[in-house]
Parts: sequence; structure tokens; C-alpha cells
Amino acid sequence: MSIEDLLKQHVHEIRDFPKPGISFKDITPILANPELSKMVVTALAEHAKSLNVDAIVGIDSRGFLFGASLARLLDLPFVVVRKKGKLPGETIAHSYDLEYGSATLEIHRNAIQPGQRVLIHDDLLATGGTAKAAAELVQQLGGEIATFAFVIDLAFLNGSASLQSYRASCFSLLRYD
Ligand code: AMP
Repeated sequence: MSIEDLLKQHVHEIRDFPKPGISFKDITPILANPELSKMVVTALAEHAKSLNVDAIVGIDSRGFLFGASLARLLDLPFVVVRKKGKLPGETIAHSYDLEYGSATLEIHRNAIQPGQRVLIHDDLLATGGTAKAAAELVQQLGGEIATFAFVIDLAFLNGSASLQSYRASCFSLLRYD
């Protein structure tokens, strides 16, 4: 069975969570399956291999679940992008609009060196606003986006289109069209 089919079987869809109209994709059944979790990290690493990546950036908080393992497997630094107020050091911030209101992500100012090529990872791509905010932070520090890599792409929301301006590939293991 393909990894896409295996993942589909292990993503639990919860309708109207956290609010009406949203079909929440719960990845905890993947995490509960060590073999499948390893396959996820291996597939993401396979994608990253030829891209000369210098660091993995994981987005708070589900981007940490596979992101840290991916960095370890590739023997690369793992950099966290966190929600406002969580990082203790000197940070830069980027705010972006949500359906209702706005959110702010932060990164440590010294987390990326100018010219470093990074892979930006989150568990899921929806509209792309979150990944875009992470990309802005990386670019503000002088980093280059080598690629975006997700476990799930809600392709019907066209998030990848909103990331096109970074001229980086947008990779995912499971698409919902
Ligand atoms: P977006 O900024 O719209 O691309 O949303 C992506 C972020 O929100 C990721 O951090 C996801 O974990 C989370 N997210 C958005 N939509 C869903 C969904 N339907 N199921 C699970 N997580 C979601």
C-alpha cells in the first residue's frame, strides 16, 4: 500500500471541529503508529535530500512532531517558529490574518544565518497563511526557502498558490482535493 493510502487510513477526520464548517484532520493515529511515523519522516527526508538544505524549520506546534525527527535524521539543526510570547531570547515577529482576527509567529533572531537554505515544515497546509508567516521570518533573517514540506495538503484551499512567490517547491505526502 502506498504511503498516501496508509496515511489516509490513519488521519482521523472530525467534522465541525474546532468550529462549524471545519473538517479537522487529526494526525494522532499516525503518531500512535511508530512504523508509519518512521515512513513519514523517511519520505520527508527523501524529498529534502537533493535540495541542499542547511536547517529544518518547524512551526508551532504540530510542525515539531515530525520536524525534529526529520532534522535528526538529516543531521541538520532544528529551528522552531513559535507563537507569540513563547521564545525567551531576542526575537523577530510576523503577524498574519486569520479567518477571524490575527496571529503572530516569532523566531529567535540568531536561529538562521544569512544564506542558509531551509526546509519549512508543518503537519498540514490549509490556506498557507501560517507557512507564509514562517517564510517571512526566515527571509527577514536572510535565509532562503529551499522547500515547504507538509504531511497533509488541503489542496482544495489552494495554499500552495499563496507560497508560489518564494520560488520553492511545495511538497506533501497526502492531498485532499
Ligand atoms: P493555514 O495557515 O490556513 O495554512 O493553516 C495551517 C495551520 O493550521 C497548520 O498549523 C495546521 O496544523 C492548522 N490547520 C488548519 N486547518 C486544519 C485542519 N482542517 N485540520 C487540522 N489542522 C488544521
